[in-house]
This record gives sequence, structure tokens and C-alpha cells, in this order.
Amino acid sequence: MTEYVNVRASETLDQGELVAFLKSRFAAAMRPVGRTTVEGTECVEVRVSSNSPEFEEIRRFIVARRKQGLHGFSDFTIGWYLRKYAKVELQEAEVLRLTIPSHFEPSGEECGTIYETLCDHCNWGRQVSDLILDLRRVPQHKDISETIAWVEWVVSSKFARTFAEKKLTGAEFRPIFDLRNPTKESKEWSQLRVTGKAGVLAEKTELGRDPFSPSEVSWRCPLGHAVATEFLSEVYLHRNAWDGSDIAITSGLFGQGRNLLRPTPLIIISQRLYHALQEARLTGFSYEVAHLV
Ligand SMILES: [Zn+2]
Repeated sequence: MTEYVNVRASETLDQGELVAFLKSRFAAAMRPVGRTTVEGTECVEVRVSSNSPEFEEIRRFIVARRKQGLHGFSDFTIGWYLRKYAKVELQEAEVLRLTIPSHFEPSGEECGTIYETLCDHCNWGRQVSDLILDLRRVPQHKDISETIAWVEWVVSSKFARTFAEKKLTGAEFRPIFDLRNPTKESKEWSQLRVTGKAGVLAEKTELGRDPFSPSEVSWRCPLGHAVATEFLSEVYLHRNAWDGSDIAITSGLFGQGRNLLRPTPLIIISQRLYHALQEARLTGFSYEVAHLV
């Protein structure tokens, strides 16, 4: 595994000093984010190896300004880890964390899906109707995608078929209806509902706002449902709390939900499911190694 840190700095977030620093020191590793036509709105991103002298230099620069309490440094997440794996590392992992990079909108709630909100702080909610979506907006060439609500996972019929044929466990596939014809169930897409349980994260999992403020998370629901955080390490789970399902979700939720956004659990899959997805050449999945301890 090779671990990188992506550092993003934006003039509109009062990080002009960091933009200038990155431009002067790391011009070769830098790329602009978006197109700047208005002065004072430049945004840049730099990727450095997480155990490099370059990272250390950026870390010192940011930590010094956080100590001074500067708004642009203290009030925002400035970077995140990116982990790249060799294929063999993924093939040897007992469990993996599955992430879904493809997002689309509108969310189910905007299309008529009904939710009951269970917490006013983190917006944790329960879906109480079938999922209704604008199916024209689903990424057509991905076997999995999610809406911007974070908790609505859409899978292809090929995914559902592969899951059933391999007798995999921990999921049920619920119908999706199209908002243009809300009585007709989609043949191509279904909603992935994960029933497998992966328990809470083990202590060994390092959480933090970003690589520059370890152990200090961005936000916690005062009632304890959800945490807004970056994962500063790979994810560790208690072996005894995982129910052994091929796909499972953590009991803890992540993200600060509001309006249409809902906090979401992490998805953990078995090597058996990873292998089946690779063999069937299903697309749209992103993986990190996770650990049972
Ligand atoms: Zn809550």
C-alpha cells in the first residue's frame, strides 16, 4: 500500500497564505482545482507521500497557523489520505472497505421517497417508503452508485444476479420506482439494503479532522449517532462483532447530515464478495483494505 496525502487550499476559504506556500514550494506536484477567472478565488491541490519530508514541511506550516487560531486553517478540513493498493494486497485482505465514488442527484427524497427523521442533530433517518428516483440520472455504466443523500445505494441487475448466484449474504435488494412512472418497478436497478452487521470500529482506527489534526474530529452528534471525520488510518473492526456476512455495515454512522444529507455507515465486504465482483467484472467500486482484530 502506498499512502498519500492530498492537500487542498483555497483562497475563498481564507487560505491564500497556504496557496502561495504550496505554489512556491511544490509547483511540480501541484494542480489547479477548477478554473479561476476571478482574483482571490484560486484553489490548488498537492499530493505528497504521507511519510515524506514534503508532507512534514506542509504539516509544520499548517500546524503553526492552527496554533494561532487563523480562521482559514482552524475551521476547515485541509487534506485527506489516499491509499493505493497493489492488486495482490486487495486479493489477500480478509475484509475490505467498499466505497462508492459515483454520485448523482436528485436524491430519493427530492423524487418523493419518504423518510422519518430520527435525530435533529445529525439528521439520521429511516426510509419508510420504497425508493423513488429519476432513473435517467443513474450512471448507466456503473454497477453501483449512490445519490447525494449518501445512504441510497443503487445497484445493477447484474450485481443482484451475481450476489444471488454466488449465494452471498448480508444484502437484500429492494425495488426502485421511477418518478415518471411511480407504479412500475425498474428492471435494471434495485436498491441495495445491507442487513449484515460489522459492529463498531475498533480503537485502533484513527479518526481526525485531517492529517494535520490527529484525534480531533470535526463534529460529533451530541446524541452519539454520527461523527464527521476523516479516516487517518485503515479501518479496524472487532472480529467478534462482525456477523460474517459478505456485505455488512458498521453500527456507527459518519458525516454531519442536514437537509437531504443523511449520516451513513461504512460498508465492509468479505474477500468472497470482492472476488465475485472482480470475476464478474462489475464496475463502480472502490476498495481499501480493512482489518478484523
Ligand atoms: Zn444524531
